[in-house]
Amino acid sequence: MKIINKRKTKKWSKLLPYLSLYIMCLTSCTSVTNANVSNNADSTFESQAEEDVIVSLPISEIEEQEETELNFQEECLDEPTTPNIQILEETEDEVVEERKLVALTFDDGPSRYTNELIEILNENDAHATFFLIGQNISANSDAVINAYESGNEIAIHTYSHTSFTNMTIEEVLSEIDTTRSIIEELGVEPANLVRPPYGSINSELVENINASLILWNVDTEDWKSRDVESIKVEVYDAISEGDIILFHDAYPTTIEAIRELLPELSDEYEFVTVSELFNRQNVELENHVKYYRYK
Ligand SMILES: [Zn+2]
Repeated sequence: MKIINKRKTKKWSKLLPYLSLYIMCLTSCTSVTNANVSNNADSTFESQAEEDVIVSLPISEIEEQEETELNFQEECLDEPTTPNIQILEETEDEVVEERKLVALTFDDGPSRYTNELIEILNENDAHATFFLIGQNISANSDAVINAYESGNEIAIHTYSHTSFTNMTIEEVLSEIDTTRSIIEELGVEPANLVRPPYGSINSELVENINASLILWNVDTEDWKSRDVESIKVEVYDAISEGDIILFHDAYPTTIEAIRELLPELSDEYEFVTVSELFNRQNVELENHVKYYRYK
């Protein structure tokens, strides 16, 4: 590309090739700046181009002028793209590294509110573990499949929700097996995790139940308060990295609390299943062991 000066000479024909090149240069630079450069950069360059039009130089200095203009154009082409891409990549890396893992758990479902809860989890890129009551499954089996297919974890909370300590060991094992079978009939593979109703468990049961026993370290008491603000306060007062938080997807107030909590907390916390909470730390959950939280 070339720039011409505007000094009149007797031989106009000599200037014609330069004039056409000058028009090409202006067209090229204008399209580049429109596509890639901010408004400020645009106006700076156009001012420079206007100055070029009124400047008058002897022919002998044209080569020097051309070189200066080419350097300017190269800077103009190089500047807009590279720095912006680097800034975006650094920002994404920081967000991923800083989030703390917390497991959300929902007991006593499935219920007629479970599908709504799954939708909220999906919207917030969150996952949870559902501890199901066997006798509730047939009325809301679609929610179990929906939860599983959305990447959540399905686990066992017994068939009748009777306290383990009020049953014989044979009855407890039978309830666990029955519930597992009902889940498998839906084409869902349950995790080998059991949550004892009311958290009632003793060492004899731990020895005999061939699964990991998942308790919790944060109890929202959502079943008792049935109040959105109270549930939120329980979470905010307690939440920290590695928590296993207990909710029940049997109450609309719990669903509303989750709807408000997840967007508020998702910048700092990543909500995952119980298995993922441990797996992401390279810890394998063992059978015949009670877990209250990670760490
Ligand atoms: Zn329960």
